[in-house]
Amino acid sequence: MEIIKYQPEKSKMTHHIEGESHRPGRIEVVCGSMFSGKTEELIRRMKRAKFAKQRVEIFKPAIDTRYSDNDVVSHDQNAIPSTPVETSSSILLLSSDIEVVGIDEAQFLDMGLVEVCNELANRGVRVIVAGLDMDFRGVPFGPMPALCAIADDVTKVHAICVRCGNLAYLSHRLVHNEKRVLLGEKMEYEPLCRDCYLQAVIAEDENKENEKAD
Ligand SMILES: [Zn+2]
Repeated sequence: MEIIKYQPEKSKMTHHIEGESHRPGRIEVVCGSMFSGKTEELIRRMKRAKFAKQRVEIFKPAIDTRYSDNDVVSHDQNAIPSTPVETSSSILLLSSDIEVVGIDEAQFLDMGLVEVCNELANRGVRVIVAGLDMDFRGVPFGPMPALCAIADDVTKVHAICVRCGNLAYLSHRLVHNEKRVLLGEKMEYEPLCRDCYLQAVIAEDENKENEKAD
């Protein structure tokens, strides 16, 4: 019997998932709830690429100006400079000559971002996208589900449920506001697991009923 050994082409062997060696374009998605460390993970990958002397650039929606206009600032103040953009098409225009494109808070960008990421990856760019996978009701957010579908690699990161310590499932909104986009911090959102979220929703519905009855 002949034993055939699998021998990958040499070029493919250098295409390690997070390797900084020469490789074709790719799309990486880092998604999860608030306080799950998405931005920290994006920054970690971007800093490592920068350290490897690659030309890097981070973009973020102009809407997200919680702390600073020109920095991607994560909750632990570990910042690197970024460029605010109004629409996804601006990213294509501004990223010629960039080897690694980072995009933070991608859920706030338009659906055109999906094509933009494909176009960049086809040009040989490594694209790293971070964003909320779901809104505060558990509905997939903006271009994120489509980006997860076309990505070469998806990393789902989790916060810890503040009520029971299990892995959190979404960012529950503490203030009563039905607007989908409400930029917030610890005062407005809490990470909850699925069970605790369902309990919270039931309690809120009961409160609303009681208010009506009063
Ligand atoms: Zn819980």
